[in-house]
Amino acid sequence: MAASAARATSTVHARSPHHPPSTVLAGARVVLPTGTVDNGRVVVEGTKIVTEASTAEAHVHDLSGHWVVPGFVDIHNHGGGGASFTSGTAEDVLRGVMTHRRHGTTTLVASTVTGDMDFLAHRAGFLSELVEQGDLAGIHFEGPFISPCRKGAHSEELLRDPDPAEVRKLIDAARGTAKMVTLATELPGGIDSVRLLAEHGVIAAIGHTDATYEQTREAIDAGATVATHLFNAMPALGHRAPGPIAALLEDERITVELINDGTHLHPAALELAFRSAGAGRVAFITDAMDAAGFGDGRYQLGPLEVEVKDGVARLVEGHSIAGSTLTLDTAFKRAVTVDRIPVEDVVAAISANPAKLLGAYDRVGSLDPGKDADLVVLDADFALKGVMRRGEWVVHPAAG
Ligand SMILES: [Zn+2]
Repeated sequence: MAASAARATSTVHARSPHHPPSTVLAGARVVLPTGTVDNGRVVVEGTKIVTEASTAEAHVHDLSGHWVVPGFVDIHNHGGGGASFTSGTAEDVLRGVMTHRRHGTTTLVASTVTGDMDFLAHRAGFLSELVEQGDLAGIHFEGPFISPCRKGAHSEELLRDPDPAEVRKLIDAARGTAKMVTLATELPGGIDSVRLLAEHGVIAAIGHTDATYEQTREAIDAGATVATHLFNAMPALGHRAPGPIAALLEDERITVELINDGTHLHPAALELAFRSAGAGRVAFITDAMDAAGFGDGRYQLGPLEVEVKDGVARLVEGHSIAGSTLTLDTAFKRAVTVDRIPVEDVVAAISANPAKLLGAYDRVGSLDPGKDADLVVLDADFALKGVMRRGEWVVHPAAG
């Protein structure tokens, strides 16, 4: 009865939400998993991409001279717009999410930095509500189970060995929304913790690690599947001691995160990783902190103070690089125009691969019909011109 009543109403009001008008994006170069289609069409109805519009009434956007690519998926992101995912209020967290969304990131996993165990468990419960309401795609715990030798911008006194019981405590506190834990798998309890994470369907990410090549292989065999910001916060590649980098690059089971901001990685290192792993095993991340999309100045990263100057974030004490101010639209443009990576491979690294890691590729990560209408419009120079999330424009392509 209720359904037929709704249908009756929608005949009277043609624009009823039950039969939303379609949006047709026409004339653009559309990047699909099967390749790029020139003069392609993307049809959006409600929140989804569809094959054909079901009504003649459609808004047509002429996007000739533009690219349409899937919305970006960031699996490692600590904040933005002046807000931190580790310490901000719900309003702050949403401001950070919106900042990245305006830069094309339609799916975002919130990363925490090292903190006290009780604090992190409490924070997990808090962030899980934002996951449940659809604003975040999950939680990534970076620390506290990391190596003091490779601590980067994490407080040394709060670091601890990866005890499986404590890892369990964090993932339980996240109530099914924990997606990834970065840990130094060579520490006591590391391998058991990797096994526990794999059993619970949470990504075990090897990072902030001092592991040898052999120790890294052992962690991969135990179930680790991601390399946290490959090259950063791990021993360098050596010809007698190849270390974690060689083990992570060579293994088909591993996806390597790369921070493509021009500061964290030399372009040659990025190219080496991209060629060695192949486009199917790279995930571009921001590792962004509060200053992303905000500006230079002084910030807090957990308990540590950070100075951002010319967009580069460094600890006030020790001057270690402390996260980035990167947004994924900048990473995309840089990958195509500076690194000369084919657009289709950049789309794999920035949308499809991270969506697959999250187990969300049935909903996001490509422009296939049936998926969420999450997409980014870029001009011929790869500058961001439009962002749509779940069928709604976040940045309208006509807005300039
Ligand atoms: Zn990080």
